[in-house]
Amino acid sequence: MNAPAPAAEAARVPLPGLDRAALAAALEELGVPGRQRRMRTSQIVRGVFHRGVRDFAALTDLPAALRARLAARFTLARPAPMTARHAADGTVKWLLRLADGREIETVFIPGGGRGTLCISSQVGCTLSCAFCHTGTMPLVRNLSAAEIVGQVLFALDELADWPRSGRPRRVTNVVFMGMGEPLFNYEAVATALRILLDPEGLGFSRRKVTVSTAGVVPAIDRLGRELGVRLAVSLHAPDDARRDRLVPLNRKWPLAELMAACRRYPGGRMITFEYVLLEGVNDAPADARALRTLLADLPAKVNLIPFNPWPGSGFRCPDEARIRRFRRILEEAGIEAPVRTPRGRDILAACGQLRTAAERARRRRRAA
Ligand code: SAH
Repeated sequence: MNAPAPAAEAARVPLPGLDRAALAAALEELGVPGRQRRMRTSQIVRGVFHRGVRDFAALTDLPAALRARLAARFTLARPAPMTARHAADGTVKWLLRLADGREIETVFIPGGGRGTLCISSQVGCTLSCAFCHTGTMPLVRNLSAAEIVGQVLFALDELADWPRSGRPRRVTNVVFMGMGEPLFNYEAVATALRILLDPEGLGFSRRKVTVSTAGVVPAIDRLGRELGVRLAVSLHAPDDARRDRLVPLNRKWPLAELMAACRRYPGGRMITFEYVLLEGVNDAPADARALRTLLADLPAKVNLIPFNPWPGSGFRCPDEARIRRFRRILEEAGIEAPVRTPRGRDILAACGQLRTAAERARRRRRAA
């Protein structure tokens, strides 16, 4: 077999971005008769997303001619790892390069009987949240569904964690909390979610997949209707004045609208509210009480996140006593409020830090 020429490689479509409907349509184009399409789709889903095959030749339950046609049209290539950093606590952070040379971050965070894969949905971000490092990068572009799913396939390769292996899974949860605002890239994120949730493929349950948003209200409704995965909302402030400043998206969809969308979110499922604690900004006992009131009639859990500092941010992380006090006020009202222990501090695991560090190093090399 000849390896495809570089031009042909570029023209091939990444198959990991196709959900079942798109796969069936692709098979129709390749001339697979209607009565066979459902079975062939399942065989591909099981091979690519359950067993993790990386070569169409390994799909041995398909006829050889179909394998060849698939290989000519599609690719199973993964994003390319640029750096991998392993923290002492088991956290692994990868900087991945996409086909056009752009870079994104994917993080695996083990612990507490589960393993969470944190994936990106955009290159850069438009939100400009005051404390977030990714907000200092311009939005470059949305990721495709294939690039979103590609991060999961890459991690399962690295961790030898394909569902088919039969071993206890290392990646038990997937969270859209990497770079970007997933609900500003709704179509690709929704397609990626359908692929992650396909029971014959990757087989994640809805309860184990979380989309985190700064509050794109209309898309929250749509996500609830169409996918019903778990929702996390990046809150960070208990009132509009401060939230306008910390999360500028709040000016478009203020707290009253955001909280109404959370109340409408289906399934009576617990919603996680992320709250980054910033010293002297949003960490006062009065803020905890205001937060308690805001969340009073919701099935809510609060993730308290000690601010992960980055150079030039202008924010500081409160001390432990202050964090404990904030937490106690929420828990006294029956709101679960775990303090998320900082993971992988030694490897710059805060959003966007690895990518900007890589860019800085390149600039230094060019300047030298
Ligand atoms: N745009 C989406 C998803 C990406 S951000 C959203 O806003 O939810 C995911 C989380 O990263 C945010 O909730 C925020 O809490 C956290 N985060 C960003 N910068 C941080 C920092 N410097 N320290 C701690 N957490 C941070």
